[in-house]
Amino acid sequence: MLFPVKSLLLQRTRRMLSVTPIALLFLIGVPASSQTNNYEFNDSHFHLTNNIQEGPNIHNFLNMMGTKAGRVALFGVPLQQQWSYRVDQDRAPTYYMHSDAPLYYYSFTDAAIAMGYKSLTPEQQARFDPMITGFNPADMYAVDHIRRVLQTFPGVFTGIGEFTVHKEFVAAKIPGEVASLQNPALDRILDFAAEVGLIVILHNDIDIPFASAVAKDETEPAYLNQVRALFKRHPRTTIIWAHTGLGRVVTPAVNHLALIEAILRDPDFRNVYTDLSWDEVAKYVVATPEATRQWADLIQSYPDRFLFGTDSAAPTDQSKYMKVFYQYAPLWKALDPETSRKVRLRNYERLFDEARRRVRTWESTHIQATP
Ligand SMILES: [Zn+2]
Repeated sequence: MLFPVKSLLLQRTRRMLSVTPIALLFLIGVPASSQTNNYEFNDSHFHLTNNIQEGPNIHNFLNMMGTKAGRVALFGVPLQQQWSYRVDQDRAPTYYMHSDAPLYYYSFTDAAIAMGYKSLTPEQQARFDPMITGFNPADMYAVDHIRRVLQTFPGVFTGIGEFTVHKEFVAAKIPGEVASLQNPALDRILDFAAEVGLIVILHNDIDIPFASAVAKDETEPAYLNQVRALFKRHPRTTIIWAHTGLGRVVTPAVNHLALIEAILRDPDFRNVYTDLSWDEVAKYVVATPEATRQWADLIQSYPDRFLFGTDSAAPTDQSKYMKVFYQYAPLWKALDPETSRKVRLRNYERLFDEARRRVRTWESTHIQATP
C-alpha cells in the first residue's frame, strides 16, 4: 500500500479546515502527523522545474517517487534564464551556468506549482508540501506577493523557498539591486513567515566562491556573521538553511562543521535547521570515510536539526531523481538507525506537519471564502 489510510483522513480533515470556522478546529482536532513509515525518505528540497520552467508533469513525478519518496517539498525555480539571441543565438540555454544572459524572477512559477498540486487527488496531495518561491527578496513588496499567492490558492502552500540571497554566479546575474541578508525586505519576508507559520528554505552561501583559494588562512567565511545575525533577528521563523551554506564552488572550510555546530548548539538558533541535499554538497560529505564520519558525528549530536533533500531539478526518470539519495549512502550507513530515520523521514514530518497546520489555521482566519 503506497499511502496509509490515516493520511487520507488527515487530508480530508485538512480540506475541511480550510472552510471551517476556527472554533470548529477545536472540536475535530488538528491532525498530529502523517506517517511515511514504508518509504526510504521524505524529500525536503525538490525543484519540479528547471531554470526555463520545464520539468516533468506532476503525475509523472509521482511515479518517480513511487515507493521510495513518501512526501516532497515541492517548488519550481523562480529564477528564469533569459534566452538572449544577441548573446547565445540559437543555443537555447537551460541552466544558469550556460549563458551570460541574465536571470529574472518568474512569479508564474507559484501558479504553475499550485495548479499541478490541485490536479492531484487528495491522497496524492497529502504527499506534497508546495512552497512559494516567485518573489524578489530585495523587494519590500515581496510579502505582498506571498500573501496574494496564499489568497489565490488557499489550502495549498506550506512554506516559502528555496529562495536565494547569496549564491555563486546566480546573485550577480539578476539585474537590479543585489539581494542582501541585511535588506529590510528580507526581514519583512521572514516576519510574515513567522506570522503565518510558513516554513522557510533559504539558500545563502556561507562564503564567496573559491574562498580557500583566495585566503589560505582561516578567515571567517564571508557571510557567516550576516547569516547568524539574520537568524537571530527571526527567532520565531522556522528556517531550513539549505546545504549548510555550501555549494558547487563554496567548499567547506577546515572548521566548517565547527561553525555549523556552534549554530546548532546555541539556544538562540533553535529555530534553525539545515538540509543535506544537492550532489554538489554530497560530494563533500562522502569525499572520504573520515569526512563522512565527521558529518555523521555532528548529525548524531543534533539528530532533530538535519533534513534530507534531493535538490533534484526537473528529473526525467526515477534513477535520476534518486541519484543524490544513493550518493549519500555512506552517510546513511554511518548514522545510527534512529538518527538516519529522523534525517530521512521524521524531521520532515514534524516540521512540515506543524507548518501545514499553522498555515491552514492562519488561512481560516485571514482569507475570505469565495462565495
Ligand atoms: Zn540551493
